[in-house]
Amino acid sequence: MDRIHLSPPDVTAAEREALLAAFDSGWIAPVGPEIEAFEDDVVAFLGGGCHAAAVSSGTAGLHLALRLVGVGPGDVVIVPSLTFIATANAVAYQGAEPVFVDSETRTWNVDTDLVVEAVETETRAGRRVAAVVTVDLYGQCAEHARIREACEARGIPVIEDAAEALGASWHGRPAGRWGRVGVFSFNGNKIVTTGGGGMLVADDPQLVARARHLATQAREPVPRYEHHEIGYNYRLPNLAAALGRAQLRRLPAMIERRRRIRELYGELLGDLEDLTFNPLDPRGDPNHWLTVVQLPRRRPVDRDTLVTRLAAAGIEVRPSWTPLHRQPVWRHARAYGGAVADEIFDRGLCLPSGSSLTDAQVERVASAVRAQLGHG
Ligand SMILES: *Cc1c(COP(=O)(O)O)cnc(C)c1O
Repeated sequence: MDRIHLSPPDVTAAEREALLAAFDSGWIAPVGPEIEAFEDDVVAFLGGGCHAAAVSSGTAGLHLALRLVGVGPGDVVIVPSLTFIATANAVAYQGAEPVFVDSETRTWNVDTDLVVEAVETETRAGRRVAAVVTVDLYGQCAEHARIREACEARGIPVIEDAAEALGASWHGRPAGRWGRVGVFSFNGNKIVTTGGGGMLVADDPQLVARARHLATQAREPVPRYEHHEIGYNYRLPNLAAALGRAQLRRLPAMIERRRRIRELYGELLGDLEDLTFNPLDPRGDPNHWLTVVQLPRRRPVDRDTLVTRLAAAGIEVRPSWTPLHRQPVWRHARAYGGAVADEIFDRGLCLPSGSSLTDAQVERVASAVRAQLGHG
């Protein structure tokens, strides 16, 4: 039987052609015309009014964003507990300290009131809170309007980790456009893939120009090799940009397909007692990157066994993100709350949600889940 993956790349003949055209053009390097065109396409997709720098990964984009807003050694950065490890690791790359904040229940994203409490407590303890990073989990925006207001009032820059949320919006404003800097990921499992890559966006053209400079080893625009500061090799290859452009054109259709997949799971699993889906807040418009269920509290099988058994049946499901306050690597970090993230994690199961899945595959997943839960 064919394997069903969580969120495989959804690529067609259009992507293949774009990639081969870039290959034939000879620009097989982290420079080339597709890169700037991809940046322009993303800006246009976001409705204009910002600037973009293509980078080698979402993690690289986050690292640059933190450096560009002035995060440095000894600083504190507020990070949601419920996210992928990369969000906190980027803080460590700058020698700063992530402090974790719990989720709220309407979006599963960071709790604004707790962010304020964390900022005030950290500040009173004599530490400098240099940035707040928000995450748009599973393709749904955080409560951006409130977070932004709270942070602006205190002069703290917001970085929006929109790695999972390209194409989503909040109060009609696109994901990625709420912070001083926004970051997208084009990893293989994200809604748009370049086979690995990312994009940094910001209103401020100088900030984006600095991002580009740092991402190319901070090389000065002079004939010989000259460097005044330490940079990185963080630029996106031209071939990857060509692939990204072709993907971006199909994004609205891919979002629509993911929305339909969530709806299908609702039809196929919605009758199970105490099984719920990741909440969708009417203030926003998600991209439905992943459909996540909260398994019933009373069930014949624990979550991790269920993951293993479905894997044996050729179906890739995953636990939801392990809260960062529970990660061994971050066991000494301070955390504000955590019970909400813990509850989401303990019962959270990410279902295959890729836009290339067929209805029959979704049905196969749903019946396998039902069977494991004793409703075969
Ligand atoms: C995928 C992801 C990242 C990292 O992006 P990469 O392109 O894999 O480096 C960062 N944050 C979140 C929330 C993600 O889901």
